[in-house]
Amino acid sequence: MKRSIIKAGVTFIILVTIVLSAVAVHNRRETRRADQRGQPDDPEGDTKDIQRKESVEEEKEIVRVEGLSFDRVSRREIKIVWQDQKNPYVCEYLVKRRIDGESSWEELGTVASDGRAEDRELSYVDVLETEALKQYEYRVDVKIAEEDRYEAGEGENIAASNILICMDPGHYAGQNAVNVDGIPYAEGDFTLELALELKTVLKESYGITAYLTRESGSVSIGGYTDGGLDSGHISLRGEYAEGSDLFLSLHTNANLEDANGYPTYAQPVEIMKPIVILNTAACESDTALAVGNAVGIRLARSSYELGIAMPDKFRSAACAEEIIQWTDAWNDGVEEPGTLCRRLGEHGDYYGVLRGAANVGVPGMIIEHGFHTVPKMREAAAGGELKERWARADAEGIAEGFGLKIFSERMEEGRVVL
Ligand SMILES: [Zn+2]
Repeated sequence: MKRSIIKAGVTFIILVTIVLSAVAVHNRRETRRADQRGQPDDPEGDTKDIQRKESVEEEKEIVRVEGLSFDRVSRREIKIVWQDQKNPYVCEYLVKRRIDGESSWEELGTVASDGRAEDRELSYVDVLETEALKQYEYRVDVKIAEEDRYEAGEGENIAASNILICMDPGHYAGQNAVNVDGIPYAEGDFTLELALELKTVLKESYGITAYLTRESGSVSIGGYTDGGLDSGHISLRGEYAEGSDLFLSLHTNANLEDANGYPTYAQPVEIMKPIVILNTAACESDTALAVGNAVGIRLARSSYELGIAMPDKFRSAACAEEIIQWTDAWNDGVEEPGTLCRRLGEHGDYYGVLRGAANVGVPGMIIEHGFHTVPKMREAAAGGELKERWARADAEGIAEGFGLKIFSERMEEGRVVL
């Protein structure tokens, strides 16, 4: 009896030990599972599964359309262009647009992929509902063919508009050259650099298209070249703007001999200011007036920030009646701020380029950015910084004048932001 009790006791103890051990093992496993986030009971087999899953996830590539560009075809058509990159994994492209200021994207249409692997340019022409000058945003999304391997990502957005600007880089190579104090400068060279920079900034940051009267040192229009064009046929430069929305003639200014008692090419920074001369068509256009004011204000500020001008050097004109007549005294005056002005001659606009633009019904303006008679301006031009700052000021002013949202080069999550 005693033995059987002892036997039963021992058996009980053994059973309790087994149960406790089993519970302990189970708990250890549970703890390990929690630590290893889902580590299964059969570590070997399931680890392989995880590895397989991870490797599939690693391979799943996000496919999104980047490097989108656009062509302004007309006031009613904007062509969106992109490369047929991820072929054959994309079966369809979805072209989307939103009008500036709206939060939702509208799907415009689809473009099928040809399923071949080589790069090919694809495009979609957006026929706009209105000829009104507006800024739009576009992006192209993708429909994926193999969803287990690829994932569709939102396309990169770009700004585009139906605005077209004609720019005239004043003069031609080597014109109005100043070579004193070891800083070589030629207005005809600088205006080309500035125009090329401005063309790029307008397109990339604001979606505005510009074309130039010349893209090299030489200018040829209507069979006349350089000096032959500028002496007697200069209005052809302005007439080149026919069909565009705005004509801009880019220049740097000069003072009369010994203005304010200083040698011509040693004028003080106090004289530095932008002068914007509007043609007759621009004086009647609220948009041109707004562009002239916004460009002038920004040029004055950027020149001051560069240390080549004094502050508060621009007087804007709220309406056509406030636009002053251009005079030598205003141009050369140290006390006079920069401003919008007009200059009339016997046949309408005094300057041939502005007369030419007015002849073809295009609002136009000469932008005298600053004075190359000021040594500090020539120094800044030689350093390369001036061209960038003035192109940025011009572009921002143009965008503001047309009422566009001001974009900067800063990108946030693929979108250009304020
Ligand atoms: Zn000039």
